[in-house]
Amino acid sequence: MFRYTNEDGISWDTGPTLISLPNEIYQIFKILKKNPPELIPLLTGCRLLFSDQTDWSLPIGLNQLVSFFHKIDQNISRQFEEVMKISSSIYEFAEDHIFHVDPPSYFQLGLKSLSSGLFLKYPKVTLTPYSKVVDSLLSNSNLREFFYHFASYVGMNPDEAQGGILSVAHVELISEIVFPKGGVYSIAQHLYNAALDYNTQFHFNSKVLSVKLIDKIKQGNNFKLTYEKDQKVHDCRYDVIISNSDPFIASKTWLEIPSVRKIFNSKLEKNQYRPSESQFVILFDLEDDIVLDHHIKIFPESWRKSFIEVCEKNQIPEDPCVYLVWPHATDKSVSSRVLFISAMAPNTLAHVKWDENFINKYSEKILNICRARLGLKLKGKIFKVITPNELEVRANSLNGGIYSATCSSFQPMNFHFSGLTDIQNLYFVGAGVHPGAGVTMVMKSARRIADHILKKFASR
Ligand SMILES: Cc1cc2nc3c(=O)[nH]c(=O)nc-3n(C[C@H](O)[C@H](O)[C@H](O)COP(=O)(O)OP(=O)(O)OC[C@H]3O[C@@H](n4cnc5c(N)ncnc54)[C@H](O)[C@@H]3O)c2cc1C
Repeated sequence: MFRYTNEDGISWDTGPTLISLPNEIYQIFKILKKNPPELIPLLTGCRLLFSDQTDWSLPIGLNQLVSFFHKIDQNISRQFEEVMKISSSIYEFAEDHIFHVDPPSYFQLGLKSLSSGLFLKYPKVTLTPYSKVVDSLLSNSNLREFFYHFASYVGMNPDEAQGGILSVAHVELISEIVFPKGGVYSIAQHLYNAALDYNTQFHFNSKVLSVKLIDKIKQGNNFKLTYEKDQKVHDCRYDVIISNSDPFIASKTWLEIPSVRKIFNSKLEKNQYRPSESQFVILFDLEDDIVLDHHIKIFPESWRKSFIEVCEKNQIPEDPCVYLVWPHATDKSVSSRVLFISAMAPNTLAHVKWDENFINKYSEKILNICRARLGLKLKGKIFKVITPNELEVRANSLNGGIYSATCSSFQPMNFHFSGLTDIQNLYFVGAGVHPGAGVTMVMKSARRIADHILKKFASR
């Protein structure tokens, strides 16, 4: 989570813009015995603009959504209700058996889904590619487009993603969505303050250059960590390493432990995994005195085609999907000038030269899409842009991808890496670790790994 502030003291958060499953945040702060950040529930859902001029301002909540679609068409409403029933069942199963535990084996998962009745009720969904699941349940082309786009949350083309990701619809449409008062950065700020109270020491702007195992047999201080700060190199020794740097990038760069490196490097070399898609973000300083929805998605003619261009062909899409977030709609403490606009962009494997000329051209294209599709002039100036190159360098993400590495082809029951390694006291948390990316999801991996460590050391 990064924050940029302009000369007038107005701040834009650059990464996450909305938080789903806020309960995870409340739980963590309860464990820490600290007050959580104030989380303001969104009162309206997303506004969706489709290429055929359909304009849906979705309400929040199942009943409200069903009646919303009922007013449009009874058949859409019936199909929507059915698809959401399945989505919620998968989500509840995941909450009970997947999100909070180490990734289960196929066998364990099979047994659990049989005993919960999920597999018997919806035998095909979990074993079928996501787009086929969507096509079999929904006939309205705009609703299909909207559901396909949930595949971007796992960085996969909907034809290759698992049917089980239908649960994302429950998270997006039915469960609570919040905006942290003052901006998403306030979550990091609250966690930082809590950690200080627990005597945590922070080294900011310190790049980890390497972590090596010193002596496998000795019990303590087994890791030598080398970092660079202010152009000086420092060595330290630690008992435990917990990394939220991506495991694939760690294996390519700083982690000098051959057994772990081999696992992640070979997944990429064998093309089982590939870096996920990136984003191009415009932090726009809005001059117009206009009212916008909290979040708006502008769909291209075919979301699926554009996404495949971006994530698999590594191309700049002809017709990108554009996402706008105007936090002032929910939180009046955020200036009405703050507008966050992001658009599909390929990761850095695309070899796009993100130079000034190209950035200006792509920004103008995106702003013009917004202007045309919203019917607004959108006067203002670009305060900053964030390119895949910046994400690669600043967040040290794999090729600037926003969701770590992702499966290259359909794997019906594939999970992220557990975060546990074959090296004593070396752990990973974060977007590349089970259950995956997103602010509250990475908090889930952090809590699970913390539980492992607590159990291990408490029993000594
Ligand atoms: C544009 C964008 C929009 C998003 N929107 C949303 C959203 O609306 N809602 C949502 O829930 N999620 C969203 N996400 C995803 C969310 O931000 C991530 O899933 C989450 O931040 C991942 O957390 P993390 O701790 O794994 O990694 P990060 O937040 O990337 O943190 C990793 C940190 O490790 C540091 N690091 C890496 N390597 C080293 C090294 N060698 N030495 C020192 N430090 C290192 C990096 O600098 C970085 O600070 C968005 C992401 C992006 C990019």
